[in-house]
Amino acid sequence: MLRLAVQKSGRLSDKSIDLLHRCGIRFSHPKGRLRAVSDNFPVEILYLRDDDIPGYVEDGVADIGMVGENVVLEKGVQVETIRRLGFGRCRLAIALPKGDAYEGVTSLAGRHIATSYPRLLGDFLSKAGVEASIHEISGSVEIAPGIGLADGICDLVSTGSTLLSNGLAEVETVLKSEAVLVGSRSLSDEKKALLDRLCFRVDSVLKARGYHYVLLNAPIESVDRIAALLPGMRSPTVVPLAEEGWVSMHSVLDDDAFWTVVDQLKEAGAEGMLVVPIDKMVI
Ligand code: ATP
Ligand code: ZN
Repeated sequence: MLRLAVQKSGRLSDKSIDLLHRCGIRFSHPKGRLRAVSDNFPVEILYLRDDDIPGYVEDGVADIGMVGENVVLEKGVQVETIRRLGFGRCRLAIALPKGDAYEGVTSLAGRHIATSYPRLLGDFLSKAGVEASIHEISGSVEIAPGIGLADGICDLVSTGSTLLSNGLAEVETVLKSEAVLVGSRSLSDEKKALLDRLCFRVDSVLKARGYHYVLLNAPIESVDRIAALLPGMRSPTVVPLAEEGWVSMHSVLDDDAFWTVVDQLKEAGAEGMLVVPIDKMVI
């Protein structure tokens, strides 16, 4: 049985659980419960605070965990990063009150910066050769300058709207982060085999995320031209329509590529185009 830690409630919870469900792993998530056992895959889910996940994985209390890379690096734990999961994207950024003069990282010298990420900020400043004082606080970092607690902050940002509404402007990016699957460095062979099975499923779901399935109708003489535009995994599927001289073509296409080729597809005679999401992809 593999023990997998996910965030109990917060920004990563729903997406972590959704990923597992898309991997075909069934389990319950009742409010207030701290663990659940899947009834169709040998995995036990532990619901924890995100800050505790890296340490529990390092200690082997959990075998693997889904957590923000920012938390893993801040904790400085010895764990294996197994997969980047493509959700929970954010950046750890330094921000100063709007209107403060800023001429590069040396402008931070001698300033007081509030953060929940003292290790990552400290590493960033020392690499830049800048001496500033780090004021560690555990939450509501963005209000620190406004109440006179610090000159600036170093905090997680995704859209930047929280900074904006607190009168702050981003000046440096310390780290770009996303959710990662981490694992203990000392898994038994049995657990490694289970992890391989899980990773196979995770990869199929993650791969499908970048692609769409395209279906279109075309006159039979356009098949070669359209196939060149929609190469797909091997080559497109071509099936006859009931109407003589027409076919339906099916293929897999990169997320962004459709808009690049749509005009050429139309020009080649394609019509009735459908672009649909793909749930899983095994190559
Ligand atoms: P917990 O109660 O589990 O300690 P938390 O309040 O520390 O939760 P959340 O705010 O739920 O944590 O964020 C969890 C993770 O989501 C972050 O560590 C980060 O990796 C990611 N994240 C993505 N976007 C943002 C954002 N704009 N602000 C904060 N975290 C973000
Ligand atoms: Zn937390």
